[in-house]
This record gives sequence, C-alpha cells and structure tokens, in this order.
Amino acid sequence: MSAPHPNIASDLPVIRQLDSAAVNRIAAGEVIERPASAVKELIENALDAKATRIDVTYADGGKTLIRVTDNGCGIAESQMELALARHATSKIDGSDLLNIHTFGFRGEALPSLGAVGRLTITSRAAGAPNAAEVSVNGGIQTPLKPAALGVGTVVELRDLFFATPARLKFLRSDRAEVQAITDIVKRLAMAEPFVGFTLTDISKGGTGRQVFRADAQNGELFEAMHGRLRQILGSDFAENALLIDAERDDIVLTGYAALPTYSRGAAVAQFLFVNGRPVRDKLLIGALRAAYFDFLSRDRHPAAALFLECDPERVDVNVHPAKAEVRFREPGIARGLIVSALRHALAEAGHRASSTVANATLGAFQPGRPDGARIYQMDRPSQAAFAHSYQAQSPGFAETQAVFGRVEETDEATLASAAELPLGAARAQVHENYIVAQTADGMVLVDQHAAHERLVYERLKKQIAQNGVASQALLIPEIVELSVGDAERLLAVADDLSRLGLKIEAFGGASICIRETPAILGEVNGEAMLKDVLDELDDMGETQSVKDRIEAILSRVACHGSIRSGRRMTGEEMNALLREMEATPHSGQCNHGRPTYVELKLSDIERLFGRT
Ligand code: ADP
Ligand code: MG
Repeated sequence: MSAPHPNIASDLPVIRQLDSAAVNRIAAGEVIERPASAVKELIENALDAKATRIDVTYADGGKTLIRVTDNGCGIAESQMELALARHATSKIDGSDLLNIHTFGFRGEALPSLGAVGRLTITSRAAGAPNAAEVSVNGGIQTPLKPAALGVGTVVELRDLFFATPARLKFLRSDRAEVQAITDIVKRLAMAEPFVGFTLTDISKGGTGRQVFRADAQNGELFEAMHGRLRQILGSDFAENALLIDAERDDIVLTGYAALPTYSRGAAVAQFLFVNGRPVRDKLLIGALRAAYFDFLSRDRHPAAALFLECDPERVDVNVHPAKAEVRFREPGIARGLIVSALRHALAEAGHRASSTVANATLGAFQPGRPDGARIYQMDRPSQAAFAHSYQAQSPGFAETQAVFGRVEETDEATLASAAELPLGAARAQVHENYIVAQTADGMVLVDQHAAHERLVYERLKKQIAQNGVASQALLIPEIVELSVGDAERLLAVADDLSRLGLKIEAFGGASICIRETPAILGEVNGEAMLKDVLDELDDMGETQSVKDRIEAILSRVACHGSIRSGRRMTGEEMNALLREMEATPHSGQCNHGRPTYVELKLSDIERLFGRT
C-alpha cells in the first residue's frame, strides 16, 4: 500500500483503480449468473453472426463444459483478440444506443466468460484460408494459433466460475442447471424457426444424449413458426393455437395463442418476445392475462407464444445487464395491441373447444381404465366381447337408458340439414343435462348448463354494450340483511350494478333494498345475487378496470342465474341451444374455462370399439 499523503489522516479510505481482471470478474457477476446465462450469450452471438445451425453441448449441468458451435460468419483472425477485450463489439459504433438491431451490443459476454472460466474460441471467417484459436484462462490470454475448422465459430467454456469460487457455491444441482439451460435454448429457438438447434449432454458416463432438437423450418413465416412451436410446446399446443397477426401504430404482433380450454394450472406456457428477445415483462404478461380474463377462472393461465416487433428506438433494451427486460417508450400501445388482437382471435374462434378435451374424453372412455391411471390394451376378441356386454361391464348404463329421452318431435329433414352444422343435430338428452348430437362425421356431447351459462353471459355483455341490461322491477322490493361493511361496499358500486340491471338502495344500517333485477335472468334470488357480487368484489384486485369488474360480476351472476342441470329440454330447445352456440363467440368454453362440449369423431368411436 502506498503511503498516505502527510496531510491526510491515515485511517481514511484509499481509492484504487481496479485492474482489468477484477473489472471483468465484477462485470461477469452481472452478465453471467449461471451456466444458462453463458449459453444464452453464446447462442445470441451465433444468431448475430447469422448462423442457420447452432449446436450446444454441455457436461455436468454446464459446470465443467459448455460448447456452442455455429455456422455463422466467423471472426477474422485479426479481430480474434479484440473480441475478448471488454466493451469491444462489432455490433454498434457507440454513437447510438437507441438503434440496436442485434442481440449483443455491450461487448461484455466474451471477456466476462474469459474472466470466470477457461474460454477457447476457434473461428474461421468466410473466405479465410484457415481457422484461428485463442484461449483465456481466468483472464489471462494465450497467443493466437492456427486451427482447423470450417466456416463458423466454436466457443468452448470449461470450469465456469473456477476463478470465482463464491459464485461456484451458489450453483444448483446439475439437474436444475440443465433445466435452466434447456429452458433458455427452447426460448431462443422459438423466436428463430429458420435456425436448426440441438442440445446434447456429454457428461462423463453418458453417451452423448440429445436433450433437445429443433430442425430448421422452411416456408412461409407462420407455417415455420407453427412448426417450431409444435417442436417445442408439443402438438397439443399447436392444434389448439390460434394464429395471431396484428398491427397497431407500427408495432407488429405475431404468434400463436391457445384456446381458453387449453389453459394451464400455472403460468408455465407464456412466452413473450420483443424484437426476437425473450423477455419476462410484467406489462406484457398482464396484457396476456387481461385478454383471457373473460374466459378463465383465476387459477387457470393462458398458453401463448407472442412476438412483438417494432422499431428498436421504441424499446430500451439497455435496462438489464442480461437483457431479460425491456422498456417500451409507449407501454400502452403494446398492451392494447396484445389485448385487442387476442380478444379478436378468441372471438373468431367462436365455439371451437380444445382438441385435448376430446382426447381426454376418449381416454376416459377407454375400457379398463376406471381410475384414469391404468391403461390396459385389450386383444381384439376381448374388445369385441366388451363392446357386446356393455350393460354388464359398465355400471350406470342401465340407469342411463332409463332417463334417455329421445328426440321425436323433430322431423328427419330438419335433422338431416342440422347434421351438416358444426354442432350437429340433437338426438337425445341424457341425465337431464347432456345433449347428444349427431354431426356429419361424429358426435357431440354438450354440457347444457355450462353452455347456457356462457350464452347468457354473452347475451348480457352484448346488451350492456348496446344500451345496458334491461331490468325488471320487482313487485315487492326485496330487503336483504347484510353486515354494515358489506352493505357499504355494495352501495359504493351501486351505479355499476344498475348498468347490470341490478338496482339497489340503502335501507338503513346493514340492509339493502333490491328494486330491480336483470330481466334476462328471470326470477332470481336477490340475496344470493348480492352475495355473488360481494364475492366477486372480494376476489377482484383494485387494479381492474370498471369494464372488467362488470364482466366478472356478470359472469358470476350468469352462472347462478342460468339453467341448472336437471332440466329436461325438448328437441327444439336443444337444437336451438346448439344453433345459438354456433352463432355465439366464445361459446366453446364456460365462464371458468371448462369446455361446454366435446366432440368425438366417428373414427374415434370406431377406435373405441377396436374397429380400426
Ligand atoms: P457483443 O455480442 O455484445 O458484441 P461479445 O463479447 O458477446 O459482445 O462478442 C464480442 C464480439 O465478438 C462480437 O461483437 C462479434 O463481433 C464477435 N463474436 C462473438 N461470438 C461470435 C460468433 N459466434 N460468430 C461471429 N462473431 C462472434
Ligand atoms: Mg454477445
């Protein structure tokens, strides 16, 4: 330590300039949090180099080895050493930090990796006679040497964090790190359907297990995107996803969003990208939730992969060292675009319900699967025997027959024409709640209560949008006793409620007087309705807009006001219900995101009986 200035007290702090190794290690702490962050930086570099094929290998959760091989433009030999210097980048010239078209721009990834691990870069630029190689070990660079490689780059990182043992201690199990690596590779691959990706585990003792593979897609953008999402999110997602293609104020939104009936129990299938960058952004996630708000109960989460593209100047990507967040300059436009595009797509999807529902149904029908856990494959003779002895095998069948009302009132011609319609012709009602309808190539089973609930709700919404819900005055106003607090809460939203056709007044202390109720609901139990409204107010966050609040209340009211199961319907009533479902947007799911009907194709039915 140098001697303090004679005039300065010796116990004052001394300020030093840190050397570059320490500076790089500090920067690495922000950029490289775990093996997955290294994988992310290296794949982004390959994408910036316009690679069409990227192969990632790792060992021991990425802790001992990460290797990323690409067929991009490569690095000129004369630039190799510079690439390892801090804040050295080929992607911007530093004059404009707003106009960034590449993943990288900070020039920090390679020097950071070289500071905390053993890094070797081998690269051959297009047109160069040979490849060159350079290594950095805990910040110390070796001289450049020639190497053999086709055009492209291989970056190998061994013993990540060996130079920063404190960070090493924070790493999780190999399995958890592999999970994080797989997750980031998949996310990046989602946004780049024309690039082929592989991910391979080469841990010792393993035999080079391929963990993930997504072949480069061809063709038109949406086709490629759909193909890639199928590879990553599975065919269930792909089959239940709606194409999203919208634009507002020069922000373009593309992607696929799943039908509400294909929702998930957690927010695990929500992928959002801004200019190709995967982002976790509260604003965008909030917009996604808001778009589905009407169709899902609070514990269900929509599934979607959405890509926003706009002029880079309109988003700030320089707010997070690992670039996981972005900031929109006009956040309202992006949010509004997502909400309106998704709502529009969902409305167009109309009564379509998720195909997984039918598959699940088929599974439940499967013989010998009483608890949904065991699946027995029967041989053909016993399948046939089973088909012939349903009554004996399947409890409840006799009972079903007893309440099986046949549609006799409807003439054959009407049936024949209705059979061509998507939800077909009603043939029967079973258990006084399920309509069995015949379609051109199969059958449909409708949950009459769920369907009716949705239809009432959609009608109510339409009425509100037009001129408010018609109300009907009660002959004798109903007085409901509540707690003082509850009464006050209801009176505070009395104006909103009156637009719903529910007119209430204070009746002194803890009592409320109901004067009018929504005409569409017919005779209602006023007290139960007020309780519903209170429950809904409890559940709703303060943040919800008045419109969302009204819709939430409506949804609950519609649920309780609609036909209960157990009401026998005539053939005409059933067919009318089917036709109304076809004509009503969103009628494929009830207000809680459950399906209102399931469809079985003839081929599915044949499969059930072993006929195929
Ligand atoms: P940044 O990506 O922010 O520019 P990096 O430290 O990640 O910073 O990379 C530094 C430079 O090295 C890049 O600007 C690029 O020119 C070059 N480079 C890194 N990886 C590759 C690669 N896979 N292919 C071609 N060039 C690369
Ligand atoms: Mg980079």
